[in-house]
Amino acid sequence: MASTPEFQQTLGKPASFSGTALHTGEKVTLKLQPAPVDHGIKFKRKDLQDEPTIDAKIENLKQVERATTIGEGSVRVHTVEHVLAALWAMGVDNAVVEMDANEPPIGDGSAQGYVDLIRKAGVTPQDEPRKFFDVRETVHVESKTGTLLILLPDDKFRISCTQAGPNNRFAQFLSMEVTPAGFEREIAPARTFVYYEDVKPLMDKNLIKGGSLENAIVVRGEAVLSKEPLRFADEFVRHKILDIIGDLALVGRRIRGHVVAVKPSHASNAQLARSITREQTRRSAVAAPRTIPSGDGGLDTDQVMQILPHRFPFLMVDRIISFETETKCVGVKTVTINEPFFQGHFPSHPVMPGVLQVEAMAQVASILLFKLAKTTSRIGYFMSADEVKFRKPVLPGDTIFIHAELTKSRGERLAKAKCHCVVNDAIVSEAELMFTFLDK
Ligand SMILES: [Zn+2]
Repeated sequence: MASTPEFQQTLGKPASFSGTALHTGEKVTLKLQPAPVDHGIKFKRKDLQDEPTIDAKIENLKQVERATTIGEGSVRVHTVEHVLAALWAMGVDNAVVEMDANEPPIGDGSAQGYVDLIRKAGVTPQDEPRKFFDVRETVHVESKTGTLLILLPDDKFRISCTQAGPNNRFAQFLSMEVTPAGFEREIAPARTFVYYEDVKPLMDKNLIKGGSLENAIVVRGEAVLSKEPLRFADEFVRHKILDIIGDLALVGRRIRGHVVAVKPSHASNAQLARSITREQTRRSAVAAPRTIPSGDGGLDTDQVMQILPHRFPFLMVDRIISFETETKCVGVKTVTINEPFFQGHFPSHPVMPGVLQVEAMAQVASILLFKLAKTTSRIGYFMSADEVKFRKPVLPGDTIFIHAELTKSRGERLAKAKCHCVVNDAIVSEAELMFTFLDK
């Protein structure tokens, strides 16, 4: 795990190149420009009056047939996925993509031309940390055509992808961590491929004027037609990964998660990007707790500290917000980025250790016990923790509601408690704890 925080990056200087637009067949010049922190990636139509810009965000998605089109108002840019994939995978967070047409130059149908351009411009760090989307629970999208995309938690951004043509011809699989070096070597050179039966009607309608065997591989039956031979035996699945990276760049945050893709399409990639964005919005919106558990009374921090011997940095409950009965209560702990454990767990990926959640449950449960025993002259020792489950990571900014219920107390010496922690109305961890009490 990287020990330095990751910073946003932009281009070192502007750089441009020209080529042919796939759909119109016209000449287009594309220029990459550096941009300030938190700018994200925006497209700029230099050929239109007032040079309108379009944010490369999933909210602006307009079309997903064959290529990804974004737009704002009546302004459109088509086939944005390859240049987005190159910028995102090469580590560029902020940039302006200027074009004098509605589509980037198609190049050879891969992302190689854009990678070369980014190399020419250089990539330079900025002084704001990157924004991440940490996958907490599995997200998945499915379609009737057999497409399935699953996003799983992971420390890194990984893609595992399968691709299969009609009748499962050209079935391929590749799994990789997306890094600038890996992208440049393994993914960027992979070219667009099309099935003859899909492009024939488009060619007949003259809809892909710029299309040729120089910028796409055409698969006709068992035959693979292209200007130069295949660059990789599994070039098709590599291009599928390229498209996934480009489409998911529309999330606008770095993803820490593992995408498992079965026969992905632009439509399904966009659907996943939407689900991620929706989840991100939900997380930001529920920073404040939505449900305050019911009950009476409570204890403030001072009162908690009169009962518990624990002190900074080991006091894991800020307050008791309610006692539902004598044997049931809810404590609360606000987790901030300043918690000492985040310095080491982990510097670039702060997650609250699960064992500290168990400790928080134990502290809340012992408050119940001390209240029942009406004395603090004894000290509780943890004897066992059973049925411990960690369901979701707890991150900086979360408010944990710690529920504890005494289920058994045998005499005055032994007690059992059933506990769980809740963040944003979802259980993040649970355990059954047993204590014994000894005189101090
Ligand atoms: Zn593509």
